[in-house]
Amino acid sequence: MGDEDVTKKSGIYEYLLTGEEKKLSIREFDRRDALATYEKQGHKCAICGEEFEFEQMHADHIMPWSKGGKTTPDNCQMLCRDCNLKKGAQ
Ligand SMILES: [Zn+2]
Repeated sequence: MGDEDVTKKSGIYEYLLTGEEKKLSIREFDRRDALATYEKQGHKCAICGEEFEFEQMHADHIMPWSKGGKTTPDNCQMLCRDCNLKKGAQ
C-alpha cells in the first residue's frame, strides 16, 4: 500500500526529475534493474547461492531503504523468496 503510493507520486514528479534522482525517491527497484542484477548474479540468490527463476526472486536493498539505502542498481541484490523472508525477519 505504502509502496504503491510512493511509486505513483514519483510518476507525478517524473517530469521534474532525471533518471538517478527519480530512482532515489522510490523504494522498489524497477524490473529492469532487478533483471540486470539477476543476470549479474548468474541467476543465483545472493545469500544461499542457489539458482532460481527470475520470477521466484525478489530485488532487495543491500543497505536497507529504511536506513538510507538508495534504490540504485549498485545497492540491489536478488534474493530467493526464502532468504528474503529470513532476512526480513531479522
Ligand atoms: Zn536464497
